[in-house]
Amino acid sequence: MKSVLLIGLGRFGRSIAEKLNEMHHQVMAVDRDEARVNDVLPLVTDAQIGDSTNETFLRSLGVDNYDVCFVAIGEDFQSSLETTSLLKELGAKKVVSRASREVHRKFLLRNGADDVVYPEKQLAAWTAVRHTTALVQDYIALDQEYAIYDLFVPAEWNGKTVGALDIRKKYSLNLLAIRGSGQPSIAVTSDTVLRENQTILVLGKWKDVQRCFRL
Ligand code: ATP
Repeated sequence: MKSVLLIGLGRFGRSIAEKLNEMHHQVMAVDRDEARVNDVLPLVTDAQIGDSTNETFLRSLGVDNYDVCFVAIGEDFQSSLETTSLLKELGAKKVVSRASREVHRKFLLRNGADDVVYPEKQLAAWTAVRHTTALVQDYIALDQEYAIYDLFVPAEWNGKTVGALDIRKKYSLNLLAIRGSGQPSIAVTSDTVLRENQTILVLGKWKDVQRCFRL
């Protein structure tokens, strides 16, 4: 169980609170808007109404005790930046801040953020890939080039072995796991036979995935 400080309870912050609650983490939620704080109460361990740009208020939360601090303020960049840098100054172990413009990312990183999330852009990229390519169920970008793709096994691969397809040699793609109806299997060998109703996790570059799966 992790202890988390969550600042900013708009739609994004609230969704983070929902997920953290599902994961049984300990969460202190903060917003300057009383109604937003009240709304999130059933999901969190503790909550405070306050302005996170106020140093005295932020200090009173004991920010160095949390494993991670999320700054989920989006539009009000001044508040987001001030909160991020104050958190770091007050000894926060890990600060993850939300950007709502590309240019915000580097300012946040330079001013105390250990990591930056850019939900609109990240989700837009995911949506574009997911919904224009029938075989792709999901993907996680690892960097600008590489990603792990969760793909349906193409119909023409049905009954073929991993060795016969040889996608590592032909397309520089690594087959990491195969999933049927149950748990994914990571025990993939060249004799493993693929079935049309399975999905596979493949690590590689998008251009190689496109070539291999004719996307
Ligand atoms: P979302 O896009 O997540 O729905 P939003 O558009 O409602 O958010 P944002 O400006 O992104 O609003 O702010 C997110 C939340 O952060 C709001 O609930 C706002 O009250 C809160 N917030 C903004 N600045 C501060 C601050 N300085 N201290 C505390 N809370 C703040």
